[in-house]
Amino acid sequence: MNQIKRVVIFGGVHGNELTGIYLVKKFDRAPHLIARSTFETIALLGNPQACAIGRRYVDTDLNRCFLRQDLANPNLSSYEANRAQEISQIFSQKNSQQSDLIIDIHSTTSNMGLTIIAASNHPDNLQLAARLNLLYPNLKILTPATENRDSSVLRSLSKLGFTVEVGPVAQGVVDASLFCQTEELVSTILDVTEAYNLGTILPVKNPLTIYQSIGAIDYPRNEKGDIEAAIHPQLQFRDYEPLNPGDPMFLTWDGESVLYEGKSTVYPIFINEAAYYEKGIAMCFTQKSIVSQ
Ligand SMILES: [Zn+2]
Repeated sequence: MNQIKRVVIFGGVHGNELTGIYLVKKFDRAPHLIARSTFETIALLGNPQACAIGRRYVDTDLNRCFLRQDLANPNLSSYEANRAQEISQIFSQKNSQQSDLIIDIHSTTSNMGLTIIAASNHPDNLQLAARLNLLYPNLKILTPATENRDSSVLRSLSKLGFTVEVGPVAQGVVDASLFCQTEELVSTILDVTEAYNLGTILPVKNPLTIYQSIGAIDYPRNEKGDIEAAIHPQLQFRDYEPLNPGDPMFLTWDGESVLYEGKSTVYPIFINEAAYYEKGIAMCFTQKSIVSQ
């Protein structure tokens, strides 16, 4: 692995996810918490204006503004498009002899516990994930289905790093326990990065359980676009558990169950994520697999 020379920690890419916002503010006041000897660490708010008004975004979702063609487009004028271009500048002075690593802190209203979404499937990044998984056996690891250059999310700026998703917690709310768990996980990512730079740990050989997104499903809706059903009580809070053909997915306002009619077992995540109603996503389906290192 190339030496990692700079780690950038983002909070508040979504202005109503308070865990990351208050962690970045804490790191700002106490930079020794994120300082390590072999790399520089920067902590910053992704979307300061959205944070100031406590909303997910001002004009559009910042975490969908990082497509390569959008970052290069001078005609985009939304606040978030311009902010994404600013952020990408931070990563533009690249030196092939050194690497950066991104930690992008989010929270979710879904019951996803401690989840990391890998910035890429690069073997070095999966090694970091495997090491974290040894330290956190309950940590869930999602891997991207698309190449970085085709992705619109912030983490795709770097081949190394993770989006941290911790939940369930409501938007605009801090949960002390989840705040502490998130801080500890971020600190551990920094420690593992330091250990790799110092060469003080051996590669992890254990197989790694990963979840890969294979699509999303919307709520049943009427012709006006209104939803006609909610997540089924038997599925609510069951993120990462198997959903088998014939299992209930939704419950209509009339009390009828809508069943999962896929052909194979899937592992839903982001079940009933509040921010995804507007995106037409009731949950994302993943497949679970075990990869050897
Ligand atoms: Zn978020």
